[in-house]
Formats: sequence, C-alpha cells, structure tokens
Amino acid sequence: MQFQGMVFAPWRLWTRRPLWVKTLLGMLTGIALGLGMPEQALLLKPFGTLFVNTIKMLMLPLIFCSVITGICTLGRRHLDKTGLKATFLYLASTTLAICIGLLMGWVLEPGTGIALQHALPHALQPHPTLEQVLVALVPTNPLQAMAEGRVLQVLVFAVALGLAINAIGRQGIPAQRLFASLAEAMNKLTQVLMNLAPYGVCALTAWLAAQYELALMLPLLKVIGAVYLGCLLHVLGVYSGMLLLLARLNPWHYFRGILDAQAVAFTSSSSAATQPVSTHCAEARLGVSKRVTDIVLPIGATINMDGTALYQGVTALFVAQAFGIDLQLIDYLTIIVIAVLASIGTAGTPGTGLMTLTLVLTSVGLPLEGVALIAGIDRFLDMARTAVNVSGDILVSVLIARQKGELDLATYHDPEAGEEMDEGSRQ
Ligand code: ASP
Repeated sequence: MQFQGMVFAPWRLWTRRPLWVKTLLGMLTGIALGLGMPEQALLLKPFGTLFVNTIKMLMLPLIFCSVITGICTLGRRHLDKTGLKATFLYLASTTLAICIGLLMGWVLEPGTGIALQHALPHALQPHPTLEQVLVALVPTNPLQAMAEGRVLQVLVFAVALGLAINAIGRQGIPAQRLFASLAEAMNKLTQVLMNLAPYGVCALTAWLAAQYELALMLPLLKVIGAVYLGCLLHVLGVYSGMLLLLARLNPWHYFRGILDAQAVAFTSSSSAATQPVSTHCAEARLGVSKRVTDIVLPIGATINMDGTALYQGVTALFVAQAFGIDLQLIDYLTIIVIAVLASIGTAGTPGTGLMTLTLVLTSVGLPLEGVALIAGIDRFLDMARTAVNVSGDILVSVLIARQKGELDLATYHDPEAGEEMDEGSRQ
C-alpha cells in the first residue's frame, strides 16, 4: 500500500514501539491467549523457558564484569575522606531501602493467593545455617562458583578482584580495560537479547493465565502498589530523617529542590541520563558546592541504587509468596547483602534492575519465571525506582556539603533558587 510516496508497512506499528510498551503488550496478549485459548497457550511454554534461559545465561557474567568495573571506577577517583564518607552513606541508605522493600513485601503480601507452585513444582532446598553461609562466602574455586551459579561467592570474588586490580596501580590498567570492555559487551548482549522479552513474557503469561486465569492480575497490581508505597516511605521517611538527624536541615526545601530531577528520572527511567539535571538541582537549587557534586554525584551514579534495592525486596517476596516458597531469616540476610553488592554493578539505564533481580532470586533459590512475570509491569516500577535513585544521589551530596560547610544555606532555603538557570549555563 502506498500513500503519497510512503510505503505503508503495518509491522512498523509494532517494531517502532519502545521495548517496554511491547513487553507490556506481550503480557496482555499472553493473558488474553491464556484465557481465550488455554489449550494452545499451554504449548507456548517452551518459548517462555527459552527466554528464562537467556536471562540465566547473561546474569553472572554481566554482574561479574560490572561489579569489577564499578569498583575500578571508584578506585580511579582515588577516594579521599569525602568519597569514602559518600560511599558509606550510599551503601547505608541502600541497606535501609532493601529493608523497607522486604517490609512492604512481608506486610502487604502481594504474591499470596496465586499459588503458582503447582505450575512449577519447586524442589525444596534445605536452608543453610548462618555459619554455613559465612564459611561459604569465599569460593574455593571461583570458576566452579560461577559454573554452579553461586551468586554470593561470585560477587565476593568480583569485589576482591576489583580491589586487587586497584591496588596494583598502573599494572592493573589492562585488566580494568578488559573488564570494562567485557562489561560493555555484556550490556550490549543484554540489550539485544532483551528484544526477546515481549515474546518470552507473552509465552510465559499465556501459559500461566491458562492455568490461573485472572488470579494473576491482582497480585501484579499489588506489586506496583507495594513498590510505590515503599518508595514514598523511603524518600519521605528515611531521607527526611537523615536530613534532620545528620544535617539539621528542613527536608521540605530538599523535596522542593529535587523535583526537576525526579520528573526527568521518572519519565526517562535512567539515572545516568538524569545526571546533568541532578547536578543542576544539587548546585543551583540546593546550594551544594561544585567541589562536592563533582566528587559525590559520580559515586552515586556508580553505586547508589536505593529504589532498585527496594524494588528487589518487594519483588523477591512476591515471587517467594507466589510460588509458595518459605524464606528463612538467613534468606532475608542473603537478599540484603546481594542487593547491596549488586547495586555497585547496576548501570543507571532503563531495566537494569530487572537483570540484577535475577541474581537476588537465584541467590535464595527462587524461580526465575518470576522475573518474566515482573517484566510485563517493570517499566512502571522502573519509573518509581529511578526517581528514588536520583533523590538518594542528591541527598548524599547535600549531607556531605552540609558537613564540610560547603552548603549555601541561603540557596537551600530560597524557593526561587536555580529557576532562572538552564542546564547550559552551568560552568
Ligand atoms: N533504571 C534504573 C536507573 O537508571 C536502574 C534500574 O533498572 O533499577 O537508576
């Protein structure tokens, strides 16, 4: 068909959609197929399994290279006292965020009542004791740890190797480049394979909807509610508390000053892309000195993922509840440690949190089919968690500036500050 010299190609209506729209449509189509043609929908399961296998394949190499690269990036900044303080504050707030996520999942129970365990009989693994987990932290053979998918051991080895590469100075530069390049290649592979997500998600939801009908929908809506509520609690409760207790500052001005960055993060789902706006908010609206933002914000972009960690807490409990898997205290501790360590290797781009969610689930033996369920609604969750990630980045810059006497209080309290300044005018 031809209109005024243009070829009408109906498939472009599909190929030109953003990936998240296609994935959401994939999920809705899957549900419709599962409800309308349950027998045929059951046949789609192998395609869903193929998608889950792709995620499994990418997970460990991706996070291994990314964590080493994250640590090398921090090392290159020759962290002084300010950098170390910022790193500590970022890791502490991420730990609080994952605890809030777990609390939301525990209290609101988004996955209770779907009983997917019949769809995917789960071989119950014996829960290790704390002593066993501690002893097993250090792999006797890192390659075997990778081959066996021992997430915690692989992360511990990646952190140790990253620190060692930093410690050998110039000799470590080839290794840094190698891992940075591998991490880039793994990211590329992830992006390419993620194009399969709409079809994989469609196949898996069709198969599940054929068995569970509409019982699937309400829990997914509950997950969205739990993540948004957790994000609000974290930003309003924890960040306000930190500003009041650690810096004796009125949080109201901070919330007013970060709105632009939050809006850009919410719509772009990328904290890396939001960084220029975060810098503008911190300096021009909140009065943080350029010396502080130059050190603190890049560290935040590398390691701070409060919203992502919170989301992983909620979704891990959702998957455990949906598949009827009982988690013990040691599993909760493992989830906290993995989410905090994985945040070092999570890039500030759309959808990376979904990839690191696979690590969290694997570390406590939860089925990765859960990731496919979450993938359909992930963009809505990504918007909220990215807004929290950038809010946390800016918060720590304010705290550090206040402590170093480099926060301009007149600007911090001025409701008009920074409004006339556009991005380009920043020196
Ligand atoms: N989109 C998030 C960010 O850019 C990362 C994630 O997917 O959780 O901060």
